[in-house]
Amino acid sequence: MIPYIDPIFENVGKGLCIICNTPINTKGHMTCSQDCHEKFIIFGEKKFGVTKKVIDIETGISYRVPTRDIIEKGLTYQDLSKYPLCNDEQQKQNDWKDML
Ligand SMILES: [Zn+2]
Repeated sequence: MIPYIDPIFENVGKGLCIICNTPINTKGHMTCSQDCHEKFIIFGEKKFGVTKKVIDIETGISYRVPTRDIIEKGLTYQDLSKYPLCNDEQQKQNDWKDML
C-alpha cells in the first residue's frame, strides 16, 4: 500500500501557496495571502486540534499550545513557559501510581 501523503503538504518549500498553488515570492511563507493563511490555520486546527501538547525536553513538563501559535510563530523552548500546563490522562495515571 502506498502511504497517503496529505496533498496540502506537498507544496511546502516549492514556492507555491499550500492552499491555492499561487507562486509565492516571499521567502519562508507557506501561503500567498491572509485569506489563505486563515484557511491554513483552520486546516491545522482540524488536523491537530485547536491546541497541541508540546513537551519541554529539558524539564519534561508538557504545555498546551494553540495550534495557531505553532503555525504562525513557530516555537522556541523559551516560549513554552507562558502557556498553560498540560494535564493529560497519562499524567493523571502517573500521579495515581505515585500515591499508591
Ligand atoms: Zn493562496
